Amino acid sequence: MSLRKFIFFLPFFIFFSIQAQTRLTVVIDPGHGGSNTGAVCENIMEKDLTLDLSMRVRAFFNKHPLKNVTLHFTRTTDVDLPVRSRVEIIEKLQPDLFISIHFNSQKLLSTNRGFEIYYAPDNLSSNIETKAKSYDRANRSFYYGYIIRNLFLKTNLYSVWKLPLNMFTQKYGIMLFDDTTVPGLLLEMAYITSPEDRACIENPQFMNDAAWFIYESIKLIAEKKP
Ligand SMILES: [Zn+2]
Repeated sequence: MSLRKFIFFLPFFIFFSIQAQTRLTVVIDPGHGGSNTGAVCENIMEKDLTLDLSMRVRAFFNKHPLKNVTLHFTRTTDVDLPVRSRVEIIEKLQPDLFISIHFNSQKLLSTNRGFEIYYAPDNLSSNIETKAKSYDRANRSFYYGYIIRNLFLKTNLYSVWKLPLNMFTQKYGIMLFDDTTVPGLLLEMAYITSPEDRACIENPQFMNDAAWFIYESIKLIAEKKP
């Protein structure tokens, strides 16, 4: 390559090398655990589903590693882990994003079903600097949640398993969002109290498709991270 050509292409080389180094750190938080079973319906416990799904995500990452993504888990076994400890883990790691995984329940209405995405809201603060950071966190949470929402509509979960998209909104008043400072999402994968959703959940292929969806979401977020 001539020197002139080299100089012409130099900015592109620099751009792509920066792109390649862009790293996304994600914390996956399997909800509940140990004596905290979460929702229970018939013989299904939420704490087992959240761990099972998270470990399937980990298996996909081990099989198809993403060079630019670092993944952490708040728990990888069936242990008690108070929300306070989850907050501490997240705050210590300061990831670009944390994803808390849950399964929903509604005892009175077994017709309630579907996938829900909740994102970290902006916390009210009179301090202008804190407020700016909080808005930035809320915007990023919304942006990542929106990527996941759009991807969901292209997945097997939606087209094959007919799992509806039930909700995409911010959530106020939970410690996991209120006491953390980094972008966060809480996914309610499906309702264990809905017979239709439960039929999906009980099928290992559905859990695999759900794990693949989360893997693909993280991959896409790493690509689209500003
Ligand atoms: Zn839960």
